[in-house]
Amino acid sequence: MALFKDLGLVLRRLDYSETSLVLAVFCRETGMQRLIAKGVKRGSRHRPSVGIDLLELGSVAYSRRAESEAQLGTLTEWKQEENFPGLRRDLPRWYAGQYAADRTAQATQEGDPHPELFDALWAFCREATSAAPLLSSCRYLCTLLREVGLMPQLGACAGCGTRRELVSCPYFSARQGGLLCRDCEPAFVEKWRLESRTISAAAAVAAGAEVADADLPGVFDLLDYHLSEVLAKPSRVTNLLRVALGMRRRR
Ligand SMILES: [Zn+2]
Repeated sequence: MALFKDLGLVLRRLDYSETSLVLAVFCRETGMQRLIAKGVKRGSRHRPSVGIDLLELGSVAYSRRAESEAQLGTLTEWKQEENFPGLRRDLPRWYAGQYAADRTAQATQEGDPHPELFDALWAFCREATSAAPLLSSCRYLCTLLREVGLMPQLGACAGCGTRRELVSCPYFSARQGGLLCRDCEPAFVEKWRLESRTISAAAAVAAGAEVADADLPGVFDLLDYHLSEVLAKPSRVTNLLRVALGMRRRR
């Protein structure tokens, strides 16, 4: 039985029984870990129950059998370090946090460390009080895509490689990993027609540059579509976040 100590952010939290939880904890040094937290919901006469919330940061200790990758590890200690009240202030921020957590859990592999992504998610949670939720969601998605090697090519046609300055690229294909020009587009079934300004705005967000608020919904939809296609999973939080932000619900 190996023992680990790390810093972790709770990405998923599921009631397991009257007294236990199953958690997906994104650990800074050891990556995503699925852990069972036994008895955390039950207090005793001498010890109050320690709840563990979604999207809180804590010092975590857990044990895991080396040979049982597929099984749950066991949480042995949890000490809350931060619970990010800014995230819990209103629905747009709360759903933006849940969306970032859900996409992180979907896109990273269990036990695969991503310390820079961890730091980016930590900063996202911390800065939620002052940051605009849609802009910080788009920026975080770009960081996530880059970290897991799935960032689409937004500067050139993914089919023939011609730079976007030289040829109009009105389509986006997630499976081709980027834009498609008119010559390449007919060969691909999975594609989405985009306005040129949405592509420019997405490239600006990816580069950390300024972007007009009016373009952000389009950028979010593009990045969300891309993730859903490449991971072959939609996020259950997408529509909740869209509605909370005043965007139209998508089918
Ligand atoms: Zn092309």
